[in-house]
Amino acid sequence: MRVKLLAAAAVLLASQSAAQAPAPPKLLVVISVDQFSANLFDEYRPHFTQGLARIASGTVFRNGYQSHAMTETCPGHSTLLTGDHPARTGIIGNTWVDQSVQRSDLTVYCAEDETQPGTSSTAYKVSPKHLLVPTLGERMKARWPGSRSVAVAGKDRAAIMMSGQRPDQRWYWTGAKYESDLAGVPVPTVVPKVNALAGTGLATAREPLETTPFCEGKAREIAISGGGKPVGAGRFARAAGDQWAFRASPEFDGNTLALAAALIEEMKLGRGPSPDIIAIGLSATDYVGHTYGTEGEEMCLQLTELDREVGDFLKVLDSRHIDYAVTLTADHGGKDIPERESLGGITASRVDPALGAGNMGKALVAKLGLKGPGLFGDSSFGDMYIDRHLSPTDRARLLKAAVEAYRAHPQVEAVFTAAQIARTPVPTSPPETWSTIQKARASYRAGRSGDFFVVLKRDVTPIADTTRYVATHGSVWDYDRRVPILFWRPGEVGSTIERTAETTDIMPTLASVIGLPVQDGSVDGHCLREVPGAHCGAR
Ligand SMILES: [Zn+2]
Repeated sequence: MRVKLLAAAAVLLASQSAAQAPAPPKLLVVISVDQFSANLFDEYRPHFTQGLARIASGTVFRNGYQSHAMTETCPGHSTLLTGDHPARTGIIGNTWVDQSVQRSDLTVYCAEDETQPGTSSTAYKVSPKHLLVPTLGERMKARWPGSRSVAVAGKDRAAIMMSGQRPDQRWYWTGAKYESDLAGVPVPTVVPKVNALAGTGLATAREPLETTPFCEGKAREIAISGGGKPVGAGRFARAAGDQWAFRASPEFDGNTLALAAALIEEMKLGRGPSPDIIAIGLSATDYVGHTYGTEGEEMCLQLTELDREVGDFLKVLDSRHIDYAVTLTADHGGKDIPERESLGGITASRVDPALGAGNMGKALVAKLGLKGPGLFGDSSFGDMYIDRHLSPTDRARLLKAAVEAYRAHPQVEAVFTAAQIARTPVPTSPPETWSTIQKARASYRAGRSGDFFVVLKRDVTPIADTTRYVATHGSVWDYDRRVPILFWRPGEVGSTIERTAETTDIMPTLASVIGLPVQDGSVDGHCLREVPGAHCGAR
């Protein structure tokens, strides 16, 4: 009898809690802040008062990870809504070398269709064809034909990788306006309006922004080696029509958020019978980081403005009474300029140009008495490719010599051959425990990855010529891998979680929140049980 009563009570309690649990949100808003490292989030979190403060009142994984080695924009965005590492998404870098393409640079861009005649890796036809796995938006549309999937971003690769194949709308900034790769899809009336506003903004000269006491405290001009101008005390004054300065300023994200809000309104997202999703790529933080570094007055003002702009965006959703939930994260972290870091006692340096694939290839070809460029690669680290026109014997000689030469350099941490990486299982342990080769394995895709992979030492910035950019990301180190992962729904009380999570966990978690089945083990990520509304396999 007692057992029966207990069982009855358990059923009653379960049905009560089911009755009290709120219905799933009708609109998933997924925001990627490009280059928003966990280091920046930790530093600025106490200073946020607007939108970012609201979102940070939810469930905060302050130790999120873009776990893989190649911490660039395209691979990072490919993990966010697929649940998979780049080894599965196929997006191993922003670009990779393909020695079969009819192009002088032998380079393919991650978000293009290189089979289109007349295109190049810089003047490309935007396409999701390289993304090999489905996104959450695709899964939602397969489950609920009425679901809408929309992406808006400052960068085409952010919009493409977060929405994948056949979204309902996809818009990204191309230098003077927002454009779409989707043919035959009606253009919402708000798009030309936002484009007109953004175009007027770009064409208008800007006075310096007003600073804040906190940001003013960071204003200190730092001299840069490698030909670049000093940075550290800038407030985004710019000339009319300067599109480079425009996109490296808070105004850029303001436009992207305005377009996102306008599309939500016009398409009535979150107000249909099925759940909808909008992915928003905010790119200005990345351009600010590359142009000015991460610890000056510029980044401080960028994040202050971003906080306000995200707050304004959320107020629009609130005023329309939309039942939404926000996820906010980043495609990778970032690192400050070595010149400022050195003032703070960190032994930081800029990369030796001799490590570039071109320079190294030339030196090795001369040494071995071979012909041609020898090596192809996009940088001084990551995937390196051996000229396939060489004989198998010469290729083997060059591989051996290249691995030895890179390994002997004092700025190089490790070099792995493709065979070594391929033999390593894709890691499943917590991301902070991964070895360097395990990180490389999560970035490895046979047929796209290089013949060997170069890892630079910690605190080596792979930019030698600083005339355009002074700081970057892309490394295997935690300053580039660790990113915040925030989940928030209005009215929800959350907490800050110390244990690590991965950006691959976002997709299965959101799927669980909206009741979309994802078979356990079918993707790299795992449902995060701390997120309210996530049932994590209980459904
Ligand atoms: Zn990025």
